[in-house]
Amino acid sequence: MKRIVILRLGHRPQRDKRITTHVALTARAFGAEGILLASNDPSITRSVTQMCQRWGGEFYIRNDVKWKTEIKKWKSEGGKVCHLSMYGINLPDAVASMQGCEKLMIVVGAEKVPFEVYELADWNVAVGNQPHSEVAAVAVTLDRIAEDEPLKNEFKDAQLHVVPMDRGKKVIENS
Ligand code: SAM
Repeated sequence: MKRIVILRLGHRPQRDKRITTHVALTARAFGAEGILLASNDPSITRSVTQMCQRWGGEFYIRNDVKWKTEIKKWKSEGGKVCHLSMYGINLPDAVASMQGCEKLMIVVGAEKVPFEVYELADWNVAVGNQPHSEVAAVAVTLDRIAEDEPLKNEFKDAQLHVVPMDRGKKVIENS
């Protein structure tokens, strides 16, 4: 199984709380093992950790990392880095080379991303060359590079399970 970690850059605690939380939840749902937050916002760590306790799995979040240190460490351990940017190579043209990679860090920005990230990345990849959202960019990328069906991921030790149905809502709670 491929190891995938997300590195979130440029999170501004005053305005990006909701979108960074959604990046984390999307990364978890689509098969990443964890997210590194290159800003100090313990409230994000708390809410993502609480959510993971209820919905299961081993997803982790690390607050206030140094982005350059993390990228360099990841690469020194044999990992590859994909920076998502609308200016990059379009995903359909990059997906085959990324699929062969066993350890992948996916970098997403919020405000302007330092140019050094473009230089350190093994791939600068656009999810279409139009501006949209880091949440969409993460979801589509994880879906396109997945080996198995990411929408069928199972999460260990979950307290909550949705029972899929045509209409209505059913959630089973294990105590
Ligand atoms: N204004 C910022 C800049 O010029 O770097 C980008 C803001 S954008 C809302 C935030 C993040 O979403 C980007 O850093 C990138 O990671 C991601 N993103 C947005 N559109 C994208 C696209 N078409 N392809 C890949 N990533 C995208």
